[in-house]
Amino acid sequence: MSHDRAQQILCDLIAINTVNPMGKAWPGPAPVERPVVEYLELLFSRYDVALERQTYSDRHENLLVVIPGQREGAATLFESHIDTVPADDWPETAFQPRVEGTKIFGRGACDDKGPLVAMLLPLLELLESGQRPPQPVLFLAAGDEEYAQTGIRHYIDNERRPLGRGLFGEPTQCLPVIQHKGTVRWDITVQGRSAHSSTPANGRNAILDMLPVIHCLRELEQEFQTRYTSELMTGPTLTITMIHGGRTRNAVPDQCTISIDLRLLAGMDLQRSSEEVRRRVDSLGVEVSHSLHQAATPSLATSPEDPFTQFVLDTCRQELGRDVVPTGAPYCTDAAYFPAGSPAIVVGPGDIRHAHAINEFVDLREVMQCARIHKRLMLHDWESGR
Ligand SMILES: [Zn+2]
Repeated sequence: MSHDRAQQILCDLIAINTVNPMGKAWPGPAPVERPVVEYLELLFSRYDVALERQTYSDRHENLLVVIPGQREGAATLFESHIDTVPADDWPETAFQPRVEGTKIFGRGACDDKGPLVAMLLPLLELLESGQRPPQPVLFLAAGDEEYAQTGIRHYIDNERRPLGRGLFGEPTQCLPVIQHKGTVRWDITVQGRSAHSSTPANGRNAILDMLPVIHCLRELEQEFQTRYTSELMTGPTLTITMIHGGRTRNAVPDQCTISIDLRLLAGMDLQRSSEEVRRRVDSLGVEVSHSLHQAATPSLATSPEDPFTQFVLDTCRQELGRDVVPTGAPYCTDAAYFPAGSPAIVVGPGDIRHAHAINEFVDLREVMQCARIHKRLMLHDWESGR
């Protein structure tokens, strides 16, 4: 696995714009991810390996690479996503990869094309060697992670092969993230009654009626944080992310809407907790309605004691040359959709603080480190334990 090859592939991938339209109109004609899917197909075309292009909407698709094992058995899934967030605030050089020493800058450098390259390198090396992994290895280059996570959901819903364990590439500085929060987002609208602002008593001010709702949400966040704690991550959060109210400067506003983002700890029931929030808001005596923004993202709750966790930790310790402990994260990943009962871990090069930001970068030394971690995991015999 060479540094030069990693640099070449990563620069190629950054130069291919796969910005997710994030729910906005998509002119097409092909899915957002198509040019990267074609690039990967070409990369794998030299080897005798099965490729499955999975197109699940007019705007998104995945590519699955299937490598049979020496023996049958539950497969290990390696997954990274190939869409990126937009670069509207970084228009000039986001898609012109820039190399500075060992760092590579560009949109997607660490989220998620660097982590993708860390999986690709050992995979290509494995295929070049003609070796078979002990058990089947699956590699999924997933679409639409950044918006609705339809890529991983489509894949999991249609996969018939048994999945034993999953590795998900995201920028974690090569440290295994075994748990992360689940998220549910919805809008709360307070209904008032409009009136001329010279006679406000004739109306009902929806913005003022929103005040007790906001106050109640602040209290609930405190309660959740007292009730639920985790050693691996910060407590649950209930954040008001947007507010809209009123139509004109000279009328009592008849409507006010806030958007909320509820993030819960691994193991908390998303449904029950969001129902609790709704019940409390509904009991305030103001006219409210709730509308779900999009499907909730479940949490990731892999056990620190799981043998898979233990093996990944050991592998990271050996490769990084220092102690490594399992961590938790406040953000969501595709790992949340891995089948319950099979462990999934998020690990990849780069720092989440640089993801979605101007001057996003990844250090190639970390990409190589993570590639070596993945190589060991690909070649491990999960059944005999060797
Ligand atoms: Zn990502």
